[in-house]
Amino acid sequence: TVVRAPNLEWRDTDLGALLPGDWPLTVDNEANFGALAELWLGAGTPREFLHVSAEIGIGAAIVVDGQLLRGTRGFAGELGHVPVRPDGPSCACGGRGCLEQYAGQEAVLRAAGLQPREDLVGLLAEHAEKGEEGVRAALRDAGTALGIALTGAVNLLDPETVVLGGALAGLSPWLLPSLEAELAGRTAGPACPVAVSPLGPEGPLLGAAHSVVRAVLDDPASVTKRA
Ligand SMILES: [Zn+2]
Repeated sequence: TVVRAPNLEWRDTDLGALLPGDWPLTVDNEANFGALAELWLGAGTPREFLHVSAEIGIGAAIVVDGQLLRGTRGFAGELGHVPVRPDGPSCACGGRGCLEQYAGQEAVLRAAGLQPREDLVGLLAEHAEKGEEGVRAALRDAGTALGIALTGAVNLLDPETVVLGGALAGLSPWLLPSLEAELAGRTAGPACPVAVSPLGPEGPLLGAAHSVVRAVLDDPASVTKRA
């Protein structure tokens, strides 16, 4: 059951009931699947890290000792709704000035003054590569907002590394400098390294696919019983 997904306007939606019942399918969010893909398929990924990914929203997943930290109510990792500017614009979650208002794809596109099209990341990267200052400034500001929000997470959890995945991976050349500067300047302990996911935007899909494959491999009898 999806309890709450502000960007989809879903509340208490029994998504599991809509899926075919013959396979060990699970419902999870993109950020968690992205982190699992990193853990299972990423080269040299540590067992304690924060995975941050973005599409319309921004999500994070916390991996501690090789396990996802889900929180008591399953809402751990909602980095997109960490306030960056408490008096900022209102957000679908009910709060104000959340990270998504500054570093979500649509927010960055608006700040960059670009018209949306199908592939938002490709569009932003294309214009940033051409050296368009307005687009680069929008990505720099998004990096700063990400750095501010991540500082809270890093100071609280002290992970081995932060991994940028999903759409953020493709924009990392323009996000990273301001993100790292913000993080390094605000972290209480030694600087936490920021890595870019080698899995790119397909990471969360790979995580979703592998979670089913793994469930079958862990208990092959469960499938033969159904067949
Ligand atoms: Zn919010």
